[in-house]
Amino acid sequence: MATKNWESVIGLEIHAQLATKSKMFSSDSTAFAAGDNENVSPVSLGLPGALPVVNKQAVELSIKMGLALNCEIREVSRFARKNYFYPDLPKGYQISQYDEPLCEEGFVEFYVDGEKKKIRIERAHMEEDAGKSTHHGGHSLINLNRAGVPLLEIVSGPDLRTPQEAAEYARTVRQILRYLDVCDGNLEEGSMRCDCNVSIREVGAPKFGTKVELKNINSFRFVEKALEYEIQRQIDCKESGEEIFQETRLYDSTKNKTFSMRSKEEAHDYRYFVDPDLLAVRVNEAWVSKVRESLPELPLARAERFQSEYELPQYDALILTQEKALADYFEQAVKKSSQPKATSNWVMTELLRMLNEEKKEISDSPISSDHLAELVLMIEKKEISGKMAKQVFQEMWKTSKSPKDLVKALGLSQITDESEIEKIVDKVLAANEKAVEDYRSGKTKLYGFFVGQAMKESKGQASPETLNKILKARLDS
Ligand code: ADP
Ligand code: MG
Repeated sequence: MATKNWESVIGLEIHAQLATKSKMFSSDSTAFAAGDNENVSPVSLGLPGALPVVNKQAVELSIKMGLALNCEIREVSRFARKNYFYPDLPKGYQISQYDEPLCEEGFVEFYVDGEKKKIRIERAHMEEDAGKSTHHGGHSLINLNRAGVPLLEIVSGPDLRTPQEAAEYARTVRQILRYLDVCDGNLEEGSMRCDCNVSIREVGAPKFGTKVELKNINSFRFVEKALEYEIQRQIDCKESGEEIFQETRLYDSTKNKTFSMRSKEEAHDYRYFVDPDLLAVRVNEAWVSKVRESLPELPLARAERFQSEYELPQYDALILTQEKALADYFEQAVKKSSQPKATSNWVMTELLRMLNEEKKEISDSPISSDHLAELVLMIEKKEISGKMAKQVFQEMWKTSKSPKDLVKALGLSQITDESEIEKIVDKVLAANEKAVEDYRSGKTKLYGFFVGQAMKESKGQASPETLNKILKARLDS
């Protein structure tokens, strides 16, 4: 039990792999599927005399993300060497940016439980990834395919206050990366990784507490869980009179615990200095303007537009804009259906449910946006009932056929023709004279029975509205 009123302070460092075909400083491929050490040249191997050359596309993608995060783009930024020894780092240093990063002082906004948050971005800088060691009992192996892969490290201000906010922030950064095609955001393949810095302080305290860095977190759920665990650990420490010391801890998701990896005393002095093999990166205004013009509408702006333009609830707008392709799909469907809320309902319930169930992306949807719009319109025009529509939807999913064709083929179209429904009702009433008498003498509960019989007679195709109208009129006459 906490005796004091503690508040947590969280800042995230997100590493995003830039979606280039070749590495940050060489023409080596970045393909994930390659065999061990296939994507290596003298540059990736760090052989003496090999010289790095900056990948222009990586710079452009970084500018793109920087602009989307409302950052200043430095006209002149520099690469620096971050020196440390590790077997998967053959050069003995990682090329990164230090005191002159490409992007600085931005912010990002997102909603948490309906409340808008604004989190500062301290910086976003380019760097190269290291290789990967794997350990096999008595020996270890090194794969340098990742060595030199371009990364953008996005550093938030210490503005996040809860684990939930931190996870939502990370989701938002991923969403923007994906909207821009700057990074595929694939957490399993390691194209996005997240380090969480966290400290606690008493509410109202003027200064931050000592921070602990959590590494090795590979899902948003674990961001939340690791932070929850770590905050409680820090509170327990403080309340039992212990001090928190600055350290790096690893999160073990199977135990849901964090473990000390290295303390500040063991922390590296990286001896940063400007890399003499690389020129400064110069980005002129024309380049920045060109990139700015290429930016798509960003997810939050799009969600807010969905609310105002289509009068959708915020809940719908945020879900529909989670992925750019989904938002595009929705807008295409609405263009045809002119029924935003009905279309949103179909996308959010049936379509997303099926996509989730079959682990499909919206781009693999067997139902085109045109066909979905057609279905929405058929319901609107009462050509089919909502219940039939669900059946038709399932067939559309299975066959990719248009709802019009399916309704015809399945003989599902709704009967709205009054004279036809009158015939059905009369037939049912004639066949159930006793029940009609009982109904008329007060057993009104029998109404449902007649509806059921008439529906059965029409093979489920009678329009419920018309059927009710005629049945009521007949019974009560
Ligand atoms: P370092 O020099 O250790 O890299 P930085 O000041 O660059 O530390 O911050 C790294 C990350 O940690 C940033 O996201 C920042 O917002 C966050 N951070 C800094 N101080 C604190 C603190 N006291 N508590 C929580 N997070 C912090
Ligand atoms: Mg730092």
